Order: sequence, then structure tokens, then C-alpha cells
Amino acid sequence: MSDIRYDLIHDEYVIIAPERLRRPDCFFIDADSRKPGRDDRGKCPFCPGNEKMTTKEIFSIRDSGEPDTPGWRTRVVPNLYKAVQIESPWRSEDAGLYEKWAGFGAHEVIIDTPEHKERMDGWSLQEYGDWLRTLRYRVMELRKDIRLVHMSIFKNHGHYGAATQSHPHTQLIALPVVPKMKRESLRHALYFYREHGRSRYATVIGKELHERERVVCESGRFVAICPFASAFPFEVAIYSLEERKISLSEFDDGDIEELSEILSEVFEALYLQLGNFDFNILFDIPPLQKNYATEEFFDDLPDIWRFSIRIVPRIYRMGGFELGSGMMINPVAPEEAAKLLRKDTKSR
Ligand SMILES: [Zn+2]
Repeated sequence: MSDIRYDLIHDEYVIIAPERLRRPDCFFIDADSRKPGRDDRGKCPFCPGNEKMTTKEIFSIRDSGEPDTPGWRTRVVPNLYKAVQIESPWRSEDAGLYEKWAGFGAHEVIIDTPEHKERMDGWSLQEYGDWLRTLRYRVMELRKDIRLVHMSIFKNHGHYGAATQSHPHTQLIALPVVPKMKRESLRHALYFYREHGRSRYATVIGKELHERERVVCESGRFVAICPFASAFPFEVAIYSLEERKISLSEFDDGDIEELSEILSEVFEALYLQLGNFDFNILFDIPPLQKNYATEEFFDDLPDIWRFSIRIVPRIYRMGGFELGSGMMINPVAPEEAAKLLRKDTKSR
């Protein structure tokens, strides 16, 4: 059983989840050489044929077969080692200054593809599309639950990306509280819009498309940029070029197709530059509901927010300065990273 606890000193929530300790780690044994340690396909819980090793599926895109049997292209299951669970009571305990929630929320694993591929440059456009359509469906479903206010969708890939399974998978965590980082980002978005009459996204994307120094590639609906103040080497952000398009749940199939193409192009270029690398992918999802924590921004979201994805290569480990200050030191200038990536993309 987990708790969501409020840290009064840092004005932030922390999830205390002892169950997460029991996770098997396929990268653990041979972590130093970055080779998966126990990568036995017969035992991979995410490979077709091993459906009984996971919890029961809550969604799948399938060509054939019953739930929890082979024939799927993507599969969604509750995380066996969950940080929060939907069965927990939805209430905060009256602990005074020590606010505590009884681990309520959703923690799902999306098995991205039946293929046990360890590199994302091997994904077909069909695989990217199925993956994004599955994520879109889960966002649309979970936003119907009015108790869930914040959602994180992220992909941990490789040992330094904090993955414990090598089969391609994505995680989704939805919570009844909004993390401080998201609250501050929303407040900043609102104040910027009020001051400038346009969103910070419109401002940044306009400048980047004009200067082109940090643009990696673009399509009609999306652009990939190495952000001006990239926190990590070779970090790439993908933005929707359309105003008022703020979440995956608003995407039509044309958006999904174009996003698949630009993701595929960016990953091809990243692998050419970095070889086999560990990374995180972060979807910046806006709040799902209007409540006491989000009412200040919620009705303005279409004006102040924009759909974005961050791809964060994990080449260097984080040190004490970064942990203590929240400020990163990045040894690779984003202009240089974009120049190197641009020469490996089709639209150079
Ligand atoms: Zn597998």
C-alpha cells in the first residue's frame, strides 16, 4: 500500500511506494556494461505468449485473439509494481500539515509493440501510430474519472533511463494532486500569456523557426527543436505547430501519422549520433480536471498550453549540484546538437 505525502518544506508531493522495491530488474546484473542481465525472451513478461505473467489487460489493439492471449499490436495492463492504485480510497487523511493521500491513482503499463526491440530506430511507422493511438485512448478514458487531475506519460529506456524491463514499454501515472513542477509551469504559462498576449510556445516556436539554428526537422503540423536552454545533451522537444492543440486526446489520425513520422526521423538521427543510448520520453499533459489546484489556469489552457514531447538522452548521470539546486549542467550546446542531428534527417 502506498501513500502520496505532502512535503511542507519543499511544497511538493512524494509517493512512498514500498511495492516498487520488489520489481525484477533485467538490467541489474550486468548494469555496468549496459547489457541487459537476464534478457531471456522466454521469461519476458511483455512478449507474446507470456500474457499470463502480467495483470489482466484493460485495453489492446489486436489483429486476432481473446484478451490476454497473443494477436495484439499494443497492450495496456495495470502496473504489477504500482506506485498508486485506483482501488485506494479517494480522500486525503486529516494529518494537519502532514497531508497524506492513501495511494489513490492509476498506474498503467503500455506494452508498445509485441516485438522485443531494444532500439527505437527499428520501429515502423505502423508501430509508432499504434503506440500513439493507444496513449490517446488511455488519456481520453482516464480523463472521464473526475477524481484524477494530473497525468504523467513517460517512457524509461535502458539502465540510465531507469527502465527495469528491456521490452519496449511506456508508463502512465494519473494522480488526484498536481505536482509542484506542473503547477509552477502552468502559472508561468498563464502569466506569460497575460503579459504578452500570446503563449510562450507561440513565442519560442516563432523565434526558432525564424532563426533555424536549433531546428532539427519539421512537418506541416509539428517541429522538432533542440531547446535553447536544453538541460541534457541532445535533448529534443517536439511541439505541435497548431494553436489550441494541447493534448493527445484532441489528435486526429492525420496528427498521429505526422507525429509518427517526425518521431521516427528524430530517433533515426539520434541513433546515428549517439549509437545505442538510454533515454526518457516525457509527454507534457495538461491538467485533466478543474479543481482547487487548477481553477486558476484551467479555462485558459487552450490559449496558454501546447502539445509537446521531450526526448531526453541519459548520457551523463545527475550529480549533487543538479539534485540540490534543480539546475542542470549540460556539456553539449543545443546549437551543436541540432546541427549534428539535422544532417541526419531527411528534411535538412
Ligand atoms: Zn519481450
